[in-house]
Amino acid sequence: MTTYFEYPSAELQTELRRIANFITAPGKGILAADESVGTVGKRFADIDVENSEENRRKYRQLLFTTDDSIANYISGVILFHETLYQKSDDGTPFSDLIKKKGILCGIKVDSGVVPLMGSEDECTTQGLDDLSKRCAQYKKDGCDFAKWRCVLKIGKNTPSYQAMLENANVLARYASICQMNGLVPIVEPEVLPDGDHNLDRAQKVTETVLAFVYKALNDHHVFLEGTLLKPNMVTAGQQCSTKYTPEQVAAATVTALSRTMPSAVPGVTFLSGGQTEEDATVHLDAINRCTVAKKPWALTFSYGRALQASVLKAWGGKDDQIKAGQEELIKRAKANSEAALGKYERGSCTGFAASADLYVKNHQY
Ligand code: 13P
Repeated sequence: MTTYFEYPSAELQTELRRIANFITAPGKGILAADESVGTVGKRFADIDVENSEENRRKYRQLLFTTDDSIANYISGVILFHETLYQKSDDGTPFSDLIKKKGILCGIKVDSGVVPLMGSEDECTTQGLDDLSKRCAQYKKDGCDFAKWRCVLKIGKNTPSYQAMLENANVLARYASICQMNGLVPIVEPEVLPDGDHNLDRAQKVTETVLAFVYKALNDHHVFLEGTLLKPNMVTAGQQCSTKYTPEQVAAATVTALSRTMPSAVPGVTFLSGGQTEEDATVHLDAINRCTVAKKPWALTFSYGRALQASVLKAWGGKDDQIKAGQEELIKRAKANSEAALGKYERGSCTGFAASADLYVKNHQY
């Protein structure tokens, strides 16, 4: 076995570091607005809005025309392919609207999950074909980072060795292809919260999954300083009868990360994974206050549902409710920014009471 490899050029290293550090600057996080067409359809169905291209454009326009103060809390937005090429009513490309606020554009580059034969309902994520070409184009079109989501499930026999190895490898291939094209890869191995497993089991699974991921990233010579990790927080299964405190969730999460995540990685941008908006904020805050282990990385948010559930509810597809939706986005982004600094006062962000349904289902992107 040879161990020959070459580091990326000094110039590329500088560019990737710059982007990753910008995204994870203190008190900043990511708005994940990269729902695929089908997933938007599920979110819109909850508020009785038709899933047309025009309605998707209008909704995203609401997000991206929110007051400039949003940039105090949000450093990056993840877009879906269709959204990157959409424009506001006055013809401004969404990517220009976002960049004018001093926010970076990211792009979802995976094309969804497919089953793994012979497994217990496990999956891998596809989209490597043409990925290099697409990344080069996205970089030209104004994107600085990318996202690829893999999904792992906790069951009696899962996640299997097959699923952990395969998903780690595909994340590493994706990450190296992004870096070759100047995009910072957000590496997302999501362990789903479905099931009745307890917090210990969730922690051990997360640790094992992350160990596979960082071994694969090393095997593929990925430049860690130019990556971000987007993991699940360590929470018990949604059907678990034991309820854990935010401090217990934080301790399990920080411990799992400290055992597996190299300090070379600049930051963690957690997904919200079906938590309510307030839970996702309180947990992030507890993680930033937690002292059980060393935390050499930024710990912030890259929330989809936990930043948008109240926005969707407040907007409800109505033109005269756009401002109301934008106000919800600012409130929640500010609360999560405080949480990323470990300074959130519980209950101080009173969001629009979004239906619990919106959170717990549709673990799909
Ligand atoms: P959620 O915060 O809704 O779990 O988002 C996950 C995700 O991958 C979005 O990019």
